[in-house]
Amino acid sequence: MKNRTKVVVIGGGIAGCSTLYHLTKEGWSDVVLVERDELTSGTTWHSAAQVTNFGMNQTMVGLKSHSIALYKKLRDDPEYPVGYHHGDGGIRLANTEEQMQGYRHFASMARGMGVEFEVIDAEECARRHPLISTENLLGGLWDGEDGDIDPAQLCQALAYHARKAGAEVYRNTAVTGLRQHKDDTWTVETTNGNIDCDIVVNACGYRVNEVGAMMGVHHPVASMEHQYFVTEDIDGIVQAGHRMPLLRCPISDYYSRQEKNGLLVGFYEQDCKPWGMDGISSSFSNDLCPDDLERVMDVLEGAFARMPVLADVGIKRVVNGPITYTIDGAPLVGPIPGKRNAFCIIGLRAGLGEGGGHGWLLAQQIVHGEACYDTWCLDPRRFTGHANVELTSLKAIEDYQNEFRFHFPHEHRPAGRPAKTTPLTPILAAKGAEFTVVNGWERVDYFKPSPDFHPRHTFDFDESFDVIAKEVELVQTKVGLTEVNGFNRIEITGADRHSFLDRMMCGRVQKRDGRVGLGYLLNHHGMIKAEATVANIPASDRGPDRVWYGSAAASEYHDMDWLTSHVQDDEDVQFKSLTNDQTILVLAGPRARDVLSKAARGDWSKAAFPWLSVRECFIGFAPATVMAVSFSGELAYEIHVPNSALYAAYLALTDAAVEHELGLFGARAVESMRMEKGFLHWKSDLITEFDPFETGLDRFVKMDKPDFIGKAALENRIRKGVQKRLVSLELDCDHAPAYGGASLMQGGDVVGTITSGAWGYRVGKNLAYAFIDPKLSEIGTCVKLNLLGQLVAATVCAPSLYDPNFELLR
Ligand SMILES: Cc1cc2nc3c(=O)[nH]c(=O)nc-3n(C[C@H](O)[C@H](O)[C@H](O)COP(=O)(O)OP(=O)(O)OC[C@H]3O[C@@H](n4cnc5c(N)ncnc54)[C@H](O)[C@@H]3O)c2cc1C
Repeated sequence: MKNRTKVVVIGGGIAGCSTLYHLTKEGWSDVVLVERDELTSGTTWHSAAQVTNFGMNQTMVGLKSHSIALYKKLRDDPEYPVGYHHGDGGIRLANTEEQMQGYRHFASMARGMGVEFEVIDAEECARRHPLISTENLLGGLWDGEDGDIDPAQLCQALAYHARKAGAEVYRNTAVTGLRQHKDDTWTVETTNGNIDCDIVVNACGYRVNEVGAMMGVHHPVASMEHQYFVTEDIDGIVQAGHRMPLLRCPISDYYSRQEKNGLLVGFYEQDCKPWGMDGISSSFSNDLCPDDLERVMDVLEGAFARMPVLADVGIKRVVNGPITYTIDGAPLVGPIPGKRNAFCIIGLRAGLGEGGGHGWLLAQQIVHGEACYDTWCLDPRRFTGHANVELTSLKAIEDYQNEFRFHFPHEHRPAGRPAKTTPLTPILAAKGAEFTVVNGWERVDYFKPSPDFHPRHTFDFDESFDVIAKEVELVQTKVGLTEVNGFNRIEITGADRHSFLDRMMCGRVQKRDGRVGLGYLLNHHGMIKAEATVANIPASDRGPDRVWYGSAAASEYHDMDWLTSHVQDDEDVQFKSLTNDQTILVLAGPRARDVLSKAARGDWSKAAFPWLSVRECFIGFAPATVMAVSFSGELAYEIHVPNSALYAAYLALTDAAVEHELGLFGARAVESMRMEKGFLHWKSDLITEFDPFETGLDRFVKMDKPDFIGKAALENRIRKGVQKRLVSLELDCDHAPAYGGASLMQGGDVVGTITSGAWGYRVGKNLAYAFIDPKLSEIGTCVKLNLLGQLVAATVCAPSLYDPNFELLR
């Protein structure tokens, strides 16, 4: 066994084997995999091993396409062939029009990744899968690439090719300890001796937290027992003359695929069972949980009704094994929060279908710092302080119970809520707030007109359309108040804070006391990494000279990691997160200045406190820091208040506003208004796949600065010219907004992809943003949007349709 290597991958299931293989493909051959038992002795060996191309976003579709292409290559490799039934096809069923709508959206989205799904009716479903009944069925989504693979052969083949490229695999070698050194390198302690390395990767399946604990972290991953059975031969299959497609049934929560001449049928029962919550026996290896078919009786009945043949056929084998889940169902693939040189590829619940792609994206991140797709939907840092073991388990149960029922737009399921609240949450709830969830925070979405107001789950505009219209009107004509909790705020102190930020950001950094600036951080490839406001607060009894770095709520761990990992040894810079200590009250509308002037002493006139100013003050007697910034495009103030004084500040503002007809508004109104202004959202419109010029942020880039992170790469990109361009679009459609991922078409070709969409109430238009072929980015150019299966006209329009000269917010 080596005692020094570059990377140690811990765990020899599909996650570890795929990572090892792809590290060698990315050019790193001095890499090692350690496995406590034999390869595939965790969950992988007993997997149903279905491989599908379906994903809820383009990154998932893209990585699954990579799996499929890789598995085909391995199948056809004469040296080490792998058993892979590719192209049996698969159907996701639907019994509601809303589900069908969702499938039409997913088909539009997948087309942009070169993947063709078909939305088919019930008769066509039954024609393609002759064993199913069309009772209570509307249709389904057909994925022609679906199939299944031999999981053990797959892992052995990946390990074989990795070894051939120089990697080493140590079986029967358990990791027992992890020690990190001052230079961020690691010593991996194993039952067969120590290995020093630069980077560790946790790929330990359901034992993820045993290894997590060795480095002092808890990963939000929980295991569930999951069960399938395999039937005796079925005559109908033999007679069909073709292999049965895969089937996924959100109506009765089961799936099936062909296994020899019978079926493998797996269940997602409501009466489901978490596993390993209080520790896992060290001898549980190559093992299963006891059969428990009683538990799946509730879904068995539906499965029998859909596939009557199941009632007449014997069961040959039952498999019940642990499967891992995270808080949102997607795995955690990427850097481990708060750690250096440590990555994970964990929480895989469809690891065979996805594993090829996850290992590929992880290896790219390890070797190049970033992957070819934006990987935020997989990033372990997307969950923060709330992601504890109990909450993860509740979300795992909920997700398991809804395995094939995708989330509708604006749908936030109830388990694990409310995770993060402020003193105002119950007050706003009593006023009728409907909440959305942002990084665990309960954030006001809109105010319900009556307690029993429950809009449908649909991709169309729903019943909240007019409610949001009223909130926008309030902000446009009078004054509104909303709470923005969880906003990421990092206090940066130290003499070098500005020179540090100057290196981190690609544009001019605002350095003047009392002023606020907006800027962008690039990665080393010159692509958009983060967006932040920089507010300079002079020394006071509340602290020394300091910068408040503000960014999206979800970026709490992400941005802190990025900033702290770039501090140089001789730099005087300190960071303190205020994210959980302060909340923003946003006062917006033409009367906002009047209300603020009444609530807080001082001169708040345009001359004394212009747009992009920051000042400490008291709202009533509540200490506050006010910034003149606006995401709505109206005159607005962000009032940052410590949570302990939040209610006091709220009372002071509402008291001061009595004569100004202050009302409350929520995030959906803001979403509409920011689209009318051309303002962008991190991880919807601002992603690592595009540089600042492609994203239309030219005015925020100063190429004449001596240096900044990403500058050299950006210079190269400038030489090549923009590949895509972000544009605003006006859609010729008034029944549904555009959704991220939907494809823009010209003729039969995909020419662009939607990033955001919302109705613009103040301009009376259905608006969207999209990255599009630069040739089509001129204002007035018309293309077609595949919106829920229909082609609607989409015309490029000005980026800021409402108040284009930015006069109102000044
Ligand atoms: C019944 C069932 C059916 C499924 N069907 C499908 C399906 O149809 N399609 C699909 O895509 N997915 C399916 N899955 C899920 C899929 O099998 C898993 O997502 C996948 O196998 C997880 O792989 P992994 O590598 O993350 O974990 P594992 O396979 O569990 O591998 C982790 C490895 O880490 C090793 N390890 C742990 N601790 C240590 C240590 N301290 N030192 C060294 N090594 C260690 C373990 O021994 C193990 O080999 C199914 C799962 C179940 C339970």
